Amino acid sequence: MALLEVENLSIGYHTQKGYLHAVEDVSFSLEEGKSLGFVGESGCGKTTLGMALMRLLPPNGVIREGRILFDGADLLQKSDEEMREIRWQKIAMIFQAAMNALNPVHRVHEQIAEAILTHNASLDKKEAFEQVEELTPSQLLGRIEKNFAILEEEAEEREKGFGQVEKVLRQKKDLFASTPNIFPVQGWITSRYGWRKDPFTGKREFHPAIDICAPWGTPVRAAAQGKVVYAGWKDAYGLMIRIRDGYGYYTVYGHLSKILVKQGSWVRKGQIIGRVGSTGRSTGPHLHFEVWHNGKTVNPLNLMVEPLG
Ligand SMILES: [Zn+2]
Repeated sequence: MALLEVENLSIGYHTQKGYLHAVEDVSFSLEEGKSLGFVGESGCGKTTLGMALMRLLPPNGVIREGRILFDGADLLQKSDEEMREIRWQKIAMIFQAAMNALNPVHRVHEQIAEAILTHNASLDKKEAFEQVEELTPSQLLGRIEKNFAILEEEAEEREKGFGQVEKVLRQKKDLFASTPNIFPVQGWITSRYGWRKDPFTGKREFHPAIDICAPWGTPVRAAAQGKVVYAGWKDAYGLMIRIRDGYGYYTVYGHLSKILVKQGSWVRKGQIIGRVGSTGRSTGPHLHFEVWHNGKTVNPLNLMVEPLG
């Protein structure tokens, strides 16, 4: 069985504006010796979850539903007394800004004794103070420094780890948004990427794009987010938009009847940027859609994540 098992945990706060949901139906399990990370934007309930595991929620916090099984026993069924036996002995947490925990207006030995007492319920105040008395001032300071050095190191290590995960997630999200993988228009493909007979000259030529046939005026959407680096007339392309999507991708939208974005502007993936037309060297209304990656055209169909139509 897992060391820590959380089942359908829902937590909220009673506030002046009523009940506020903070954590909804969270379940996970953690094996002994393993690590588990929670990643999310601030305010999404990470701290609430941590505090709930420690049974340290503020008075207005309520665990509305669920179970927290630690070592097989439900922490939510424990009395405060029983909880004190477990907390800091078997389950502990490093708070945010742990370095600020030492209060400069309290005497050092009181703070050390307090820590000893809180962490060891079997000791009384006198015994705790005796333990502190046994320490010489330099030992005392050494102990504080050591503790904080360890805390700081741990906290830093954790933050680094979480930062990395967050960075990777953000990069993945950004990469997805910058990858042209949705069809700019719905229609049917009349000309594929590759060698074909030129519709005008009949000669064999390389078609570095797909042509999607759609009714005149059909909205054309950006296949990826990016910056409009060209919007205007361009030779055989007619009215054309070129977008720098990022991560080495560029997309080109040709033969438009209308351009709805300005050169230099930023467009979201899926945003309407123009309308299907037949401007330039074209035999009828269709979208000429090119994708470039690292300076070469690629077959757009290989990138698409959804079927056409
Ligand atoms: Zn074409």
